[in-house]
Amino acid sequence: MAEVWNWQLNRTMQYHYDEVRPRRQAAAVFDTNKCIGCQTCTMACKTTWTSGHGQEYMLWNNVETKPWGSYPLAWDVKALQLLGPQHWDGDTYTGDTIFEAAPEDKRALGYAPSDIEFAYPNRGEDEVNVSITREKYHLKMPHDMWFFYLPRVCNHCTYPACLESCSRQSIYKRPEDGVVLVDQDRCRGYRVCYEACPYKKIFYNHTTKVAEKCVFCYPALEQGIQPRCMRSCIGKIRSFGYVSTPDEARDDNPIDFLVHVRKVALPLYPQFGLEPNVYYIPPIHVDSDPFLTMLFGPGARRAIDTYVAAMEGDDRELLAALLLAVSSDRIMTRFSVDDDMVSGYTDDGERAVHMPIRVPNVERSPFDPDLNVYRLNTT
Ligand code: SF4
Ligand code: SF4
Repeated sequence: MAEVWNWQLNRTMQYHYDEVRPRRQAAAVFDTNKCIGCQTCTMACKTTWTSGHGQEYMLWNNVETKPWGSYPLAWDVKALQLLGPQHWDGDTYTGDTIFEAAPEDKRALGYAPSDIEFAYPNRGEDEVNVSITREKYHLKMPHDMWFFYLPRVCNHCTYPACLESCSRQSIYKRPEDGVVLVDQDRCRGYRVCYEACPYKKIFYNHTTKVAEKCVFCYPALEQGIQPRCMRSCIGKIRSFGYVSTPDEARDDNPIDFLVHVRKVALPLYPQFGLEPNVYYIPPIHVDSDPFLTMLFGPGARRAIDTYVAAMEGDDRELLAALLLAVSSDRIMTRFSVDDDMVSGYTDDGERAVHMPIRVPNVERSPFDPDLNVYRLNTT
């Protein structure tokens, strides 16, 4: 066992391999406040990567409704129950990770879902947290009753449990971008990765008898193009790029800005200890701080406050960084704000987008005297 630094836990932790970070780490930010649950991302991925034999049950990208939705069934409830109580002391996690809580004969604490547990990907969709009674129909923020959509892909973790658990070393993390891939020629289908990944984002193909998982559309990444699920997002909730460690964060890198500078984007279940690289802006309408802390760690309420203040005030940098989501197919690794405009730049310095941070509202009179007509749409 090696002692490695996990910045999301603000402490070192035990892991089977030494700390080796890629030259840069591919990462995404999902704004849960903007997701409309349309599942376009799910279908974009499905038709691109998992339409073959043995892949019928696989959704490398899925969108579940929290608190009740889950794919596979109750994946997070089961993982959390196995792990036992989880404690934070301020920003430092003082409980065990799944590596530290592993039984003696395993490298990570986990369980293997049965096939039937993947059969209900839409379970709990659009169901709210409590039963709705007449008196609950009132408007306030945050809401007594709530749900939100949680889109999920493989997190291309810094400390992947799938990789660590594989005794054949068939899973590797690319040094150039941190994408986690399975070498299907080496894989013998032992399925220990499937048991170890707490997010249940590695799958077993019953036809080819080997493991498969999200590849972050690496052929697109190599061309400077964002993954399919990101490009197809109708709600424009997804930002894609590269995340640094906190000590190397650049405030002109859109992902670093959201994760490290404004700290509005947080990892999912950081207490598992994998340092996942998909980050979430928590939902502002949810009234349960313990629930949000359980999902996103102790920074959840702080993230919401910063996000709401930006929407109501004039934090132009934060609005600009959020606006870049799905504004171009190309990966933007730098952004700048100039007066009321934001620009996003690719790796080679080319400007991919240039747009106003706030779109002006123009109010017109309902009556147009020039044409002597009334217009129904007056804004
Ligand atoms: S989310 Fe799971 S499958 Fe993806 S890298 Fe992490 S441990 Fe591996
Ligand atoms: S395409 Fe975007 S808005 Fe639609 S479900 Fe997926 S993440 Fe949400």
